[in-house]
Amino acid sequence: MIPPIANRFVAGESPAQALDHVRQLNGRNVRAIVNLLGEHYDERPPVRSDAAEYRALAGDIANSNLEAAISIKPSQLGLDLGEDVFREELEDVVAAAADHGVFVWIDMEDHTTTDVTLNAFEDLAREYGSDDEYRVGVCVQANLKRTRADVERLADVPGKVRFVKGAYDEPDKISYSSSARVNHEYEALLEYAFEHYDRGIAVGSHDPAMIERAIELHEEHGTEFEIQMLMGVRDDAQYELAAEYPVYQYIPYGDRWKSYMYRRLTERKENVWFALRAILGR
Ligand code: FAD
Repeated sequence: MIPPIANRFVAGESPAQALDHVRQLNGRNVRAIVNLLGEHYDERPPVRSDAAEYRALAGDIANSNLEAAISIKPSQLGLDLGEDVFREELEDVVAAAADHGVFVWIDMEDHTTTDVTLNAFEDLAREYGSDDEYRVGVCVQANLKRTRADVERLADVPGKVRFVKGAYDEPDKISYSSSARVNHEYEALLEYAFEHYDRGIAVGSHDPAMIERAIELHEEHGTEFEIQMLMGVRDDAQYELAAEYPVYQYIPYGDRWKSYMYRRLTERKENVWFALRAILGR
């Protein structure tokens, strides 16, 4: 069982617990993006098992009439075993989800996976999406120097694009390391997207300055967008923003929650205090 300290960031170990959380969120006007925790598998059985769970989850989401998408890491679907394994498993999940009308996000991992991930996204978006209905989305990272060109390339692909600052430590040669520079790039990417994309922009950030800039750009260009934040991070802001804009909460679940929780707790000193208070029962 997940201890109370992890409850803030992870919805539970089972799909049923994750969907219970989605139901509560939907009741507060916030939509969901559900992620089964798992990455970097070096053998096929966990890849098959997670892919099967995602297909079943898409069915459960549709049958329960919930407002929820799913989000998958490429290395969870076998990218470390080969591009062909990843593509085969991803296509099966996207096909099953499309049958149920459930949207699939592809998370972005480190720079060694960017080309393979974008290529798979583009092919699936063209196969399953149309100008009327997008079925697949991908994440792009403002800390990578290549991303401006990627964002231009994706402008006419019928899928959504999630803009994030980037969570991976990348080599200096190919990335921006100062947070000021990453923020500058993030804003520049949003400016390009709001001007050139018809729709499908997802602002994956907790940063009030980036969200404010996106709202300004939306008002200037009229382009539709959505805001995405992680479960347990600025929850109150999520509820407030949801009164005016589409807001999605990214909800991890599953029995591999320990390393995820550790990452969340250590990325901000306030979260370490939160953990200590929870342990001390205050
Ligand atoms: P930061 O630069 O971390 O923080 C800026 C400001 O935001 C802070 O000064 C503060 O005002 C506010 N803030 C941030 N965190 C908190 C907090 N805990 N409590 C209160 N205020 C806070 N990265 C990837 O590389 N690949 C992915 O596929 C990916 N998917 C993501 C999906 C979603 C929905 C989200 C939200 C993030 C995802 N990320 C992904 C992570 C992302 O790259 C960043 O590492 C992460 O979001 C932190 O950057 P930030 O924009 O939130 O702001």
